[in-house]
Amino acid sequence: MNFASDNTTGASRAILAAVTAANAGQSAAYGKDDFSKKAARLLNEVFERECASFLVNTGTAANALALAAVAPPFGAIFCHADSHIMEDECGAPEMFTGGAKLIGIPGEAGKITRAGLVTALSRYPRGIEKQVQPAALSISQVTELGTVYSCGEVAALAEIAHEAGIKVHMDGARFANALASLQCRPAEMSWKAGIDVLSFGATKNGALGCEAVIFFDPATAANLPYLRKRSGHTLSKGRFLGAQMIAYLEKGHWLDLAKAANAHARALAEGLTKIPSVRMPWPCEANEIFAVLPCKMDSRLKAEGAVYYEWNFPERDAGCAPPGQDEIFVRLVTSFATRKTDIDRFLAVASSAGI
Ligand SMILES: *Cc1c(COP(=O)(O)O)cnc(C)c1O
Repeated sequence: MNFASDNTTGASRAILAAVTAANAGQSAAYGKDDFSKKAARLLNEVFERECASFLVNTGTAANALALAAVAPPFGAIFCHADSHIMEDECGAPEMFTGGAKLIGIPGEAGKITRAGLVTALSRYPRGIEKQVQPAALSISQVTELGTVYSCGEVAALAEIAHEAGIKVHMDGARFANALASLQCRPAEMSWKAGIDVLSFGATKNGALGCEAVIFFDPATAANLPYLRKRSGHTLSKGRFLGAQMIAYLEKGHWLDLAKAANAHARALAEGLTKIPSVRMPWPCEANEIFAVLPCKMDSRLKAEGAVYYEWNFPERDAGCAPPGQDEIFVRLVTSFATRKTDIDRFLAVASSAGI
């Protein structure tokens, strides 16, 4: 019953098999191989546009490189106060941009609102010599609190950003889960909604370690080959990244994986909703669930072998009462590899401890 994260599981069988198959024979190095070229073609097909895409090993590298391409060292990057780039990347965006400043915007359930963005932009007008200059907006889809921006919400934020003359980045570590949730086309959730550059995650959804930085206007990507190389993310055996991305995208494999992960989370959330002593501060919209549980239930679940993380309750931004003295706030994450039997057992233990 491991619900700690979607990266505690291994890779999907198809992707692992593709890596093994790519092992045979000789191949050009540093991303000039046929696998990487085919991956780029498939990304163009999936996004219905000629993109400039770059494969890297981690989501942190994808985010930091994407931001380095659009923000100068004296730039301001607007993001949610709890975002991964702000909290979980050890200063990589600041380092890769050469010193750009991240400006955190609070917002309910992990989302930046239009009003929040307008206020933040108003504090950093262009041309004030002693302040960082507005450079980019970065939003996460799925958000760090498991919620999903609608395409309309993305478009509304992007419009404000573009009016202010800044680029829009999407941290799509869970892009596939968001897409499966909204049931729209990749183009609609990205460039058609105003996204300029996307960190397109694959690792959490079944790859071994592969993410793409995708620029919808290739001109914006002019410096990326050099930025990637100097960051140590131009893999000499780049074919293995290409092979992962091909297997991920072909035959809709990525969407099948994400649909499975989301369905598991929905089943878990529906079961938890039926237990009166459990409350959830916002709905489960992809593959993550946040819930306040009685400590008694938490202990029983852990004694039975369940694994998950306690989470910081976002006081300002939640839609339910904070955990009381004998309660705990937790995050549960499902993946394509979650077993239905584990969900059933988790819910059985929780229900029996939850009256
Ligand atoms: C996991 C994650 C990333 C990428 O993290 P890495 O560990 O560097 O691969 C980026 N953004 C979000 C929102 C994530 O959850």
